[in-house]
Amino acid sequence: MTIGERVTLADLPLRPELVGASPYGAPQLDVAVRLNTNENPHPPSAALVDDVAEAVRVAASGLHRYPDRDAVGLRTELAEYLVRQTGVAVTVDNVWAANGSNEILQQLLQAFGGPGRTALGFEPSYSMHPVISGGTRTRWLPAPRRADFSLDVDAAVAAIAEHRPDVLFVTSPNNPTGQSTSLDDLRRIATAATGIVVVDEAYAEFSPAPSALELIAELPSRVVVSRTMSKAFAFAGGRLGYLVAAPALVEAMLLVRLPYHLSVVTQAAARAALRHASETLGTVAELAAERERVSEELSGMGFQVVPSDANFVLLGRFTDAPAAWRGYLERGVLIRDVGIAGHLRATIGLRGENDTFLAASADLVTELD
Ligand code: PMP
Repeated sequence: MTIGERVTLADLPLRPELVGASPYGAPQLDVAVRLNTNENPHPPSAALVDDVAEAVRVAASGLHRYPDRDAVGLRTELAEYLVRQTGVAVTVDNVWAANGSNEILQQLLQAFGGPGRTALGFEPSYSMHPVISGGTRTRWLPAPRRADFSLDVDAAVAAIAEHRPDVLFVTSPNNPTGQSTSLDDLRRIATAATGIVVVDEAYAEFSPAPSALELIAELPSRVVVSRTMSKAFAFAGGRLGYLVAAPALVEAMLLVRLPYHLSVVTQAAARAALRHASETLGTVAELAAERERVSEELSGMGFQVVPSDANFVLLGRFTDAPAAWRGYLERGVLIRDVGIAGHLRATIGLRGENDTFLAASADLVTELD
């Protein structure tokens, strides 16, 4: 008997909007082939593991002190990485970091959303956008994408004019559908916007489309680009996300962040991982090539595959997506039911994992509409 066990959630004075809610998260099942959370399937190299361990060992001698509250060293190195990756001349003052981009998004909503304010996004998209909006008591306004999941910019501009949201989310490449939004389209959307425009670029490194970083100089009071080391950087377990924006937006983040939110260990480990950026990101081209191979083979079998610029593909149309998801699981492959009728999302894994997924798909063609 665990102490306190007789109290249930229903006994607690929970905020009313949380009553009946379920926690966000994909099932963490022990399955041979895990293609459900869009991680980079390549484990860190021995050299990276050694560097992280050594950096943490050195940092551990200062564990009795709080970390650098503003993570200046880490932000400087993130800015240097961004200059190399995008050619946009950002500096430490343009970058803010937190425990995963989910925390970045939460801090943005704490600063710019809240009671009496609204956030709008184009669905289907990343389901944490409405969840974090709810958590900050920002009213969520869903606007639709086209039937093929691409973003209809005219409709987006009309939705902005109608609702004038305080915070607007555009995910590019979009999760769970994979398409990027072009810089011209983002410029039109951000120009029409009345509030903050958060371009969620969690998967940017996988996409040939230029980054919205280029728009910050043009629209500095609107555009924020959110990024993460969880995907291409193969650092999901390290929990490090960041944003890029005008320095004033970074100042706004200082108003809402918890003091010392990034631990000494996180800062040291992330900086060590960043020193290996070019080697880690060397896997991106291979994963993009695998994405094309998987997409073509699936199409050849009769699946509809949404064209993707990310490290996953959305496939359909299944008669019964939850049943098909179980079919994959029975074949040792964990993919994701993202709640879009007739569709499932599969992360691109290592070549052998993709082969197992494709073999399961060949079996499950019978489940197609
Ligand atoms: N944005 C998008 C579009 C995502 O898909 C994810 C992760 N699934 C995140 C943000 C958050 O990732 P993290 O907190 O690991 O940076």
